[in-house]
Amino acid sequence: MRTYSGSSAGSEIMPILKNARESAWIISPWLGKEYAKELAALSQRGIEVRIITSNVDYNIESLEILKASENPNLILLVLDKNKTNGQATFVHSKTYIIDKEHGISGSANLTYSGLNSNVESLSIAETEEEVEKMETDFMRIWMGFERRGMPKEGISSGTSYSLRNALPLLHNFGGVTEPNVKGVELVYHPYYFFEFSFRVSAGKSPPVLFEDSGFLVLDGATRQIINDNLLVEEIKNNPIKDYVLKTENKYRLAIHQQKIESFREARELVLNHIIEKNTRHYTQRYGNRYRSYGRISDYGPRSYDRIFVPYRNIVSFIKSGFVQVPVWYCEILESERRHYQSIVFGASGRKWTEFVYCPECQKKIWTNETIDCEICGTKVCNNCINEKGLIFKKKLCGLCLSKS
Ligand SMILES: [Zn+2]
Ligand SMILES: [Zn+2]
Repeated sequence: MRTYSGSSAGSEIMPILKNARESAWIISPWLGKEYAKELAALSQRGIEVRIITSNVDYNIESLEILKASENPNLILLVLDKNKTNGQATFVHSKTYIIDKEHGISGSANLTYSGLNSNVESLSIAETEEEVEKMETDFMRIWMGFERRGMPKEGISSGTSYSLRNALPLLHNFGGVTEPNVKGVELVYHPYYFFEFSFRVSAGKSPPVLFEDSGFLVLDGATRQIINDNLLVEEIKNNPIKDYVLKTENKYRLAIHQQKIESFREARELVLNHIIEKNTRHYTQRYGNRYRSYGRISDYGPRSYDRIFVPYRNIVSFIKSGFVQVPVWYCEILESERRHYQSIVFGASGRKWTEFVYCPECQKKIWTNETIDCEICGTKVCNNCINEKGLIFKKKLCGLCLSKS
């Protein structure tokens, strides 16, 4: 570790920041406007920019600039000095970690005076271990404040929102040892999950029992309940810790922004779904309690049509949580006639689904909607398949048709 002390801290910080290739993690309570623009520009070039700063008047314009250039690479944690659960959250440290190669910490804010006129002191990491230690400190602060930060990301409970640090792609591409992978993208999808059950009886003599239980997944980006069994199983079978990813930083990452504001909102949406699903007509019978007293039409058991609506408070949640599910999108060019996109779950390595590029027209189609050529087996789209033969029709791809 070497130290710097003087009035041009900027000469240590700015050159490495401007040349960032992968990531820039910054803690700076005060953030100058020009530097906010610089950081926004970095993020738009695909560099992961993580900023911890504070909600002070000085930063108003800078925060506007950052919010205006919102993109998945720009992750902002704004700490509100005044109103975070009555708890003052304020960071004093200033840290700059670039590409996980350079680490600087000290007194200099990312402002004009911090970098160019105040006398500041800095500690500059010189070894990998020293940078790593700064990274760990940074993430500790990030994780610690994340829940108390202003709800820009809208995550409030059970968060496993994690680092860019990508996991290795686990999937085995159908035994092909070295598939010709054209591109791999890791995308985080935000989901809430709820395991619930209720059991209640309505009416008397005899009472009618109503019960339901299950595992529901809510899409944080669309507010929809998920019907996809593979996805539900993926979330059900992997504990939350599987979604907290470990370092490697090799892949491009996108994060699907979620629209759900809070865990509470997610819970309400799920509850509405459970109530709607379980609201139903039923027939209430009244045994022989009501006897006839002479008129024939009154004789015998009676039944009434009723509607059962579960009360919100009878539904109990056994387990719930929020996960950012990592999903790989892999473009694979196996041959000229087989180009496809394989979609693989990050945590389990299981294949989710596949899209195929029709070799005739290049249209991207869901694999279940393709038709196999009966001669060569090539998957082509509905429009490009040809039928040949009068009685025994054969389905052929364009290539096989031209050869026959
Ligand atoms: Zn086609
Ligand atoms: Zn063919």
